Amino acid sequence: NPSEHEASDTAAIEVRNVRKVFDSGGKQVTALNDVNVAIRRNEFFTLLGPSGCGKTTLLRLIAGFEFPTAGSIRLNGKDIATLPPYRRPVNTVFQSYALFPHMSVAQNIGFGLKMLGKPKAEIAHRIDEVLRLVRMEDLRDRATSEISGGQQQRVALARALAPSPEVLLLDEPLSALDYKLRKQMQIELKRMQSDTGITFIFVTHDQEEALTMSDRIAVMSAGRILQVGSPHDIYERPVDRFVAGFIGESNFLQGHILTTREGLTQVSLDVGEVSAATLWASCNELPADADQADNKAVTVVVRPEHASLTDDIDRATLTGKLENIVYSGTDTHYHVSLPNRQSFIIRSQNRRGGTADHEQGQLVGISIDEAAAQLVTQ
Ligand code: ATP
Repeated sequence: NPSEHEASDTAAIEVRNVRKVFDSGGKQVTALNDVNVAIRRNEFFTLLGPSGCGKTTLLRLIAGFEFPTAGSIRLNGKDIATLPPYRRPVNTVFQSYALFPHMSVAQNIGFGLKMLGKPKAEIAHRIDEVLRLVRMEDLRDRATSEISGGQQQRVALARALAPSPEVLLLDEPLSALDYKLRKQMQIELKRMQSDTGITFIFVTHDQEEALTMSDRIAVMSAGRILQVGSPHDIYERPVDRFVAGFIGESNFLQGHILTTREGLTQVSLDVGEVSAATLWASCNELPADADQADNKAVTVVVRPEHASLTDDIDRATLTGKLENIVYSGTDTHYHVSLPNRQSFIIRSQNRRGGTADHEQGQLVGISIDEAAAQLVTQ
């Protein structure tokens, strides 16, 4: 089994068959349902999913603030299920920075080391190191009540990094920052991760944030992990409709399998055309038995940037009425109403000097980059 092999060689954290059931006023709430994942050493790993899917619970189990109802959590191959948080080489940065307001930046950063009984000189040295890492040398002696939100975020990070944890857990650490600062901190966090070589496990419900920062992403829904992969894998090869819909914009086309050949599946699209439109799509897992797959109902995912408008209606994959043109600076979105009234979205990059050569209400053809069309399960 290749995944087990990988787990023993390079995994920092292995989560195996983990279930977590909370008792909430006599009602059982299953927060995690048979979760399996191996997080590699030195990687920037993101847990991504909608509110309530179990991201924070998984993080709290790794930190040791909660214990699994069933299953095991291993760190460097050793079961840590019974170790209390302070005995784990794991540290957490919370969404609320939870700094001590009456202490200086340096005192906040050194607090954990002081509790561990480290010598004064060593603490002072380490404070300087992490202040450099988060680029806050100038504010060393400032009270944390007198610095900005972005700076407080950096201090919280520095404090969590100070004891040199093997694994740093980050629970939506950027959500309190405004858009510009957040973008800047995304790049900074990524840099800190690669500078320190610490394994980062980052929680977010923001798909764009996950795509730009992560080495790998686990997409979660309703207590389960649906897919683990690189940002590219997750975006270009989603395994199911939920993943495709949660990450980026998607067009979902219903259809039936006609035939399967060399990793591609020919699908007849049910879009209400008189003559059936067809396309060849790829999928992560081909139906085991091609005969059985015949005529099976499927969904094809087409990203808006993998389709374009064409005036050559006869050779287009789909046709429809151009309902809306939305200009957004770098791109233009075209909303096309298909014969079955489904709205299909096309995104095209604007070029300097390019002219809008399509008009609302016009009949248009849509050509689809079939190499990028992806078959998914429901
Ligand atoms: P968010 O993005 O909103 O923080 P999340 O993905 O982190 O959500 P969790 O906080 O892990 O989700 O919660 C998962 C589920 O478990 C939710 O249904 C939540 O209500 C429930 N839950 C979490 N902690 C407890 C608890 N201590 N007692 C009872 N139920 C809980």
